[in-house]
Amino acid sequence: MSKFDKVLAEFANEFSSDKYLPPTVTQRTDPAYFLLHDGHTSTPITEIYRESCYICRDPEFAQMGLPLCYKCSKCGGHVAADDSVCDDCGHDQLEDIEDDLR
Ligand SMILES: [Zn+2]
Ligand SMILES: [Zn+2]
Repeated sequence: MSKFDKVLAEFANEFSSDKYLPPTVTQRTDPAYFLLHDGHTSTPITEIYRESCYICRDPEFAQMGLPLCYKCSKCGGHVAADDSVCDDCGHDQLEDIEDDLR
């Protein structure tokens, strides 16, 4: 389980009496519904859209203003928002930060 999944799971547990975590938040009664309409949105980078990525596929991540997938600094490929490793070349974006500190 990634850190991001943990945060989502905790969030769902806190606000829902149900054990069931809905894959998308669309109902008005959903405790996270307000997040879709609070004016905080993220802009997805369409060039790196991945069919296989659940964050890319679900527009509600952007509507809720959550961090989205970003471009690899090496190859411009897809890096999932809950990861730092590029899906295309395997480059770890955290290494860039370490390079900057040197
Ligand atoms: Zn993605
Ligand atoms: Zn890459």
